[in-house]
Amino acid sequence: MALRFFNTYSREIEEFQPRDPVGRTVSLYTCGPTVYSRAHIGNFRAYIFEDLLQRHLELRGYQVHRVMNLTDVDDKTIRGASESGKPLQEFTSPFKQAFFQDLETLRIKPADQYPAATEQQYVDRMIAMIETLISRELAYQAEDRSIYFRIKNFPDYGKLAHFDLSQLQSTGRVKNDEYDKEHVGDFALWKAWDEADGKVAWEGQWGRGRPGWHIECSAMSTALLGDQLDIHCGGVDNIFPHHEAEIAQTEGCTGKKFVRYWLHCAHLLVDGQKMAKSLGNFYTIPDVIAKGYSGRETRYALMRVNYRMPLNFTWEGMEEARESLKRVDDWAGRLAESAANAADSEAATPVPERFEEALDDDLNISAALGFLFESIRLTNRAMDAGELAPAAARSWLEWWKRIDQVLQLSGEETTLPAEVAKLADERQRARLAKEWKKSDQLRDELNTLGWDVRDTKDGQKVTRRAGV
Ligand SMILES: [Zn+2]
Repeated sequence: MALRFFNTYSREIEEFQPRDPVGRTVSLYTCGPTVYSRAHIGNFRAYIFEDLLQRHLELRGYQVHRVMNLTDVDDKTIRGASESGKPLQEFTSPFKQAFFQDLETLRIKPADQYPAATEQQYVDRMIAMIETLISRELAYQAEDRSIYFRIKNFPDYGKLAHFDLSQLQSTGRVKNDEYDKEHVGDFALWKAWDEADGKVAWEGQWGRGRPGWHIECSAMSTALLGDQLDIHCGGVDNIFPHHEAEIAQTEGCTGKKFVRYWLHCAHLLVDGQKMAKSLGNFYTIPDVIAKGYSGRETRYALMRVNYRMPLNFTWEGMEEARESLKRVDDWAGRLAESAANAADSEAATPVPERFEEALDDDLNISAALGFLFESIRLTNRAMDAGELAPAAARSWLEWWKRIDQVLQLSGEETTLPAEVAKLADERQRARLAKEWKKSDQLRDELNTLGWDVRDTKDGQKVTRRAGV
């Protein structure tokens, strides 16, 4: 069966046919973070879904060209910079770095490019696109000197969100500062400078100002991937107005269909509720790591539910993730021991492709993991009974390595909570200085915190104690 995805545009499961079926290249654009604070676990649920998508496409032989933007100018970044008394770039830069750190912790494959909205080449492109839209009467300058997209001249507006424009008029969502727009749904392509913007401004031929958020993505995606994309992803909250606006702007400029497949990830809940700072259930990746969980455990917990279903994050769920990964580790270890006895001449035992086929089916990760754990149960039972031939163990192990290219769940943990990392560092230094007593004390401290330390020929290995 071919790969198939649920396309938000058609609201149907569609067979995946990229623009270049022969070269098997896929262009993938994923909306990235707004760098005014540290991204939260809900954001990372979407980024992990996108990672799973990319890695599965690669497993199926596609070459993925992936772009993720960084929104480093908008209302929130400008407000943050002004409140902290820093220039915009200085304010956003640590959040960009933090974002890359979190991606690494979660084993998310880096995108090929991370364009930032404030790079001059992209601002130039946004301005050029706005000029084109004005010349085609798809945009106009209002009394407040901002430029707006004229949705009534773009009949397809609302198709992605399956949104009826007459509804938009009746919702009465008119803000005071939008009095001079022609239609309440018209959105800003360019925001005229005002005092709150401080030094943040670029010159358009229509005056000083800054680009709106939606045009950023239209300009950066087409600059790097061309006028037509295979897949565009984001969270469900991006569908309207952000992605709807991206279609209107881009197709308004190019006259071509912008995106073939729109994939959107559902929300993450925490303890059954929407995440909110006021509820005390708002977590970043370092918050989860500080509770003693590893990057791969967090990855697993955020990945294991199908992307179109809401995912409920709980600490019990993190414990389950830990137990599940321990089962996988123990199983892979047993397989490796048994496989070591296999003679090269022994024939391999093919493993059914049920994992890959489940992912072909709109990334059905629950079914894929279901097959993995069912396989673990059966092969463990066969090993218990001494009935799994070494060659079969070798085949299962090879299969596991293959699917783990997608899952990225095995291997030593590289991320330790800050406190543990500090003690481990001190112990390493104590050992180098041959201060054995101090090194033993530090080992005891780590044990008390629930961590084991082993000294191997490759240096010291710190691992979470089982059952802690
Ligand atoms: Zn975007």
